[in-house]
Amino acid sequence: MENLNKLRFELRQDVLDMIYRAKTGHIGGDFSVMDILVTLYYRQLNVAPDRTQDPDRDRFVLSKGHSVEALYAVLCSKGFFPKSDLLTYSQYMSKYIGHPNNKISGIEMNSGSLGHGLSVSVGMALAGRMDQRSYRVYVVMGDGELAEGSVWEGAMAAGHYKLDNLCAVVDRNRLQISGCTEDVMAHDSQDERWASFGWHVLHAEGNNLDSLNNAFETAKTLKGKPTVIIADTTKGYGVSFIENQAGWHHRVPTEEEYQKATEELKKRGEANE
Ligand SMILES: [Mg+2]
Repeated sequence: MENLNKLRFELRQDVLDMIYRAKTGHIGGDFSVMDILVTLYYRQLNVAPDRTQDPDRDRFVLSKGHSVEALYAVLCSKGFFPKSDLLTYSQYMSKYIGHPNNKISGIEMNSGSLGHGLSVSVGMALAGRMDQRSYRVYVVMGDGELAEGSVWEGAMAAGHYKLDNLCAVVDRNRLQISGCTEDVMAHDSQDERWASFGWHVLHAEGNNLDSLNNAFETAKTLKGKPTVIIADTTKGYGVSFIENQAGWHHRVPTEEEYQKATEELKKRGEANE
């Protein structure tokens, strides 16, 4: 766990480097979701770079596709592509664009048009059952994304088909591009909403690897319904002046901010949190 703590801040540094170099990206959501991705890729998902077409691999969909820099950093660290590829992020003709696309090794679905990931994941989970495969399907959504009506069509179908091979995660950082989620479109009462669509509901501390892992372990034991994990996160987690600021949804750091963030991430990685 100590190594994973170091890693989760090193991967945030990779994200910071990508965004600072390209002068574009979504750093707040990247830092919010990073620990969910690290837990999935390092402790849960049955995936590997040499088995990207294995019919039994687990499926992962980043529905909040604007956080793709975090996914690139994690996939790269797992060997899906070389680190030199990250240098091309958001450059002309690079396939490493600002949202996930399935031309990239390890990425299952083009996403970022919010509200689509859950419905496609429902299809993947249903196909797995029909094909009698044992793989599981994981999808991560933003909390702002929950205002998309299509999310609830997917939730309804998953409940109807009792897809217990499907696990959704809500990155509940309480912020979205335009401000506090509770001001834009209230999302408290998530438990009742998901439960009413036929889902198990779990909670996790979304920037705590053990808490997240425990929730994923529990989800695997719950049968007869899909599971949603409401992961309470901090947007911008890891850098003091980026945390909990809606303005950092897609702001690019200045040189001074870049240096300060780099120092903070190094310290956080060295601390045995
Ligand atoms: Mg959010």
